Amino acid sequence: MVGPVLIVGAGLFGAVCARELTDAGIRCRVVERRAHIGGNCHTRPHPGIGCHEHVYGPHVFHTDAPALWRYVNRFGAFNGFVNRPRVRFGDRVFSFPINLLTLHQLFGVSTPAEAEEALRLRRRPGTDESSVEGWCLAHIGEELYETFVLGYTWKQWNRHPRELPSDIIRRLPVRLTFDDNYYTDRFQGVPAEGYGRLFERLLEGVAVELETDFLPDREYWMARHPLVIYTGALDAFFAHECGPLEYRSLRFEREELPVGDFQGNAVVNYTEREVPWTRIVEHKHFGPDRSRPRTLITREFPADRAPGCEPCYPVRTPDNLARLGRYRARGAELEGRVLFGGRLAEYRYYDMDDTVAAALGAVRRLLGPDLGGKACTRT
Ligand code: UDP
Repeated sequence: MVGPVLIVGAGLFGAVCARELTDAGIRCRVVERRAHIGGNCHTRPHPGIGCHEHVYGPHVFHTDAPALWRYVNRFGAFNGFVNRPRVRFGDRVFSFPINLLTLHQLFGVSTPAEAEEALRLRRRPGTDESSVEGWCLAHIGEELYETFVLGYTWKQWNRHPRELPSDIIRRLPVRLTFDDNYYTDRFQGVPAEGYGRLFERLLEGVAVELETDFLPDREYWMARHPLVIYTGALDAFFAHECGPLEYRSLRFEREELPVGDFQGNAVVNYTEREVPWTRIVEHKHFGPDRSRPRTLITREFPADRAPGCEPCYPVRTPDNLARLGRYRARGAELEGRVLFGGRLAEYRYYDMDDTVAAALGAVRRLLGPDLGGKACTRT
């Protein structure tokens, strides 16, 4: 007898697959190593402070695709939160991402034309743009690079920005207007009732087993399920047989404070190398309720992947990409049996909307003639 599709991981990729397969009449079973659903998007309510705590760092959903925006809103209304982080560098606070106000604060310019001229004088055209450092020197020059990128990126990735590929930094806009929206997409927000509730709705009617680790019993699970959708770290699936794939992790230090407002904003980045954390998140600023006289903040410390620190970011350096190639080849041998999906298993720096789109695409391909009714039990 064939069994249900096994989905390993109740994060965004796994949960969207589970929803779509279930709605298509295919039975799914989700196993999740942690004690909660939602992966690193997980939030939990903090009734005393009247907010949702982003347990693994801030997750702001943003997309330019109306269909994806409609899709996520099916599982819970999003509030109108717009991410406008600020940067602390020494005693100074800067508008961020780099925009006309930032350039005013740093160079004293006041108009787009003056800002363009200030940048032109500082850019170093002809610099090799393949690294983060090279891209920054070519596009924004040394002062902006040293104030906003050098220390933060070095801390975040534990490598000098000249050793990191520039696609990491190309995500960040540089604007000659006063627009300080972190994203350029048309739609963004966080779920008004938290991601906890959103994932409960995504997984409604799906069998989910928490605190159930797939990897130690991989053969057992594989033997009982014709198809496994695996969303964990790719190297771990293959018992690290081609060497470790590097993932950057985060350690979080949370603190409740007897003040109504600690920093006046949801996210403040600390871009100096000497400050050990990269950012402080003040959770109440994601939602409308700021009335309580207490607040909750989380300091984020970049960390190596270690027990107790969840892998978060693929480190896409040439060494790791070479190892990734070997793991992909191993994965290809399992085609039709195991589908590797999501940020960790695909080893891609996906945003949330990319993850949802990738999961929807994967299910669409699965529901093609190969799978429908053959490998899986239809309910
Ligand atoms: N970055 C930076 N300074 C900042 C914020 C970001 O140099 O103040 C760089 C850093 O290398 C980071 C990348 O930009 O890894 C992408 O930042 P983003 O905020 O998109 O990262 P995430 O939210 O995924 O942690």
